[in-house]
Amino acid sequence: MAALRCVLLSDGGASCTACCALCLVLCALANLPLPLTRVLDLRLLRQAYREPLQSINRNLITIELIKAAQAAGVAFMFDQGFSRDMVDEQTGVVTLSSGQTLQPRVLVGCDGVHSKVAKLINPREAERSSRVSEWGYYELTLPAAATAAMSEKQFNSFHIWPGKAPHQSEFVVGLPNCDGTITMTLFGLMDEVKGRITTDAQMREYLAATYDDALDQSTEGISEAVSGGFQHIFLNEHECLAGELGDSGTFVFLFGDAAMGMEQFLGLAINAGFEGVHRFLLHFAREGGNSKSDQFWRGQVRARNALNAGVQALQHASHLNAASMRDGCDDPLGKAIRAALEGQFGRADIDASGFESTHDWWSYCQVPLKITETVVAGQDAIVASLKAGLLKNRERVDMEVEIGAEEKAQLLELAAPQVQALVQERAKLLEAHAAEIHACFQ
Ligand SMILES: Cc1cc2nc3c(=O)[nH]c(=O)nc-3n(C[C@H](O)[C@H](O)[C@H](O)COP(=O)(O)OP(=O)(O)OC[C@H]3O[C@@H](n4cnc5c(N)ncnc54)[C@H](O)[C@@H]3O)c2cc1C
Repeated sequence: MAALRCVLLSDGGASCTACCALCLVLCALANLPLPLTRVLDLRLLRQAYREPLQSINRNLITIELIKAAQAAGVAFMFDQGFSRDMVDEQTGVVTLSSGQTLQPRVLVGCDGVHSKVAKLINPREAERSSRVSEWGYYELTLPAAATAAMSEKQFNSFHIWPGKAPHQSEFVVGLPNCDGTITMTLFGLMDEVKGRITTDAQMREYLAATYDDALDQSTEGISEAVSGGFQHIFLNEHECLAGELGDSGTFVFLFGDAAMGMEQFLGLAINAGFEGVHRFLLHFAREGGNSKSDQFWRGQVRARNALNAGVQALQHASHLNAASMRDGCDDPLGKAIRAALEGQFGRADIDASGFESTHDWWSYCQVPLKITETVVAGQDAIVASLKAGLLKNRERVDMEVEIGAEEKAQLLELAAPQVQALVQERAKLLEAHAAEIHACFQ
């Protein structure tokens, strides 16, 4: 491979969690084979869940990406903080803190949720334009000793502990790790939780009273969580995810949290970063070679900005706690209906699926995010109408009762045309999306 003219700036050392989204772009620009699973041996890092969730330590994935990029010839320059004054917004000339100047063709901003690069193409934004979510979190750990008695299947599940009254809006999400521990994130509304717990004893009392499974006795990391306080989640919503600096021929792209920070309790933030990079690279690969014209890059800018609505839709869904958590916390009858529909209309290949868990729709990059929003809303409407019909037919209102064989057959019969209509709508939306993106390159 010819010497790669890519420079990665990071304000941390080599071991910091430097931008994983940016590493991905660099790997691909360096002609590493895609998709990502071929770049990295993720089998070392991941494990299966009930749903195809993959828990990957943020540090590990970053380290692996850095190694892969370095092996492909990417030059990393650590301890080089970026500030807006380092770029001449008219000429695109970048001055590094060493004094060296560069005029990159492409400037990729993967500098996190408080992105400074974002301001180059969104000049009307305040220097710190990120905002805090109304949700916050504590991070806790269930040690390996506390999970030893779990069956493998139970351990590998996506764990949700819903809060009991008076804290029903709070919940703990647990993701199992390879070492037998479970990373637990306790989510709650900032206004309700911030400042409420000030001692370890209060935290234990709260865990005991609010959650099943005696979490107060088994959970570790309580002192750190209490002393660190209830954590903010930062979000942003930039108008543009890509742009051009003056007429300099320098094009700027934002990926990962720099493009759109997500509320973490959906667990899809990294996925949104990957989706952005993946779609960018699809266009890049389709054009072939490395000598791209200004016209191509302007098309990339338009295509990247066309995806903005989809990323905002994911952020919105995430805010409403509307994806994996909602399926998990649905009432038993709603869950049973979803399971029946998924059993009948779900397929291993999500593109051929008529019904999937909400989480899976949001997680798969094959379906653009904006279309996912419509599919998920359509599924919700189907489940709600089936549930209403089923309850009406029952003599008593009973959300707990399992669905009988006759009821299930009726449900599936009623659902079939609705699912079919949703599949057709999805196909139409995909066609319209493909046409819109194609037009970006005309
Ligand atoms: C507690 C917690 C739990 C999470 N859980 C999940 C989860 O389960 N699933 C999921 O998908 N996501 C999760 N996320 C979100 C996920 O970590 C982020 O979406 C992801 O790390 C974003 O990657 P990034 O490369 O875009 O940005 P970052 O990881 O924020 O990287 C930005 C990099 O830019 C560097 N930088 C910043 N400013 C400058 C500058 N001026 N000059 C040079 N370098 C700079 C920073 O040092 C950093 O290395 C979680 C986040 C948190 C905090």
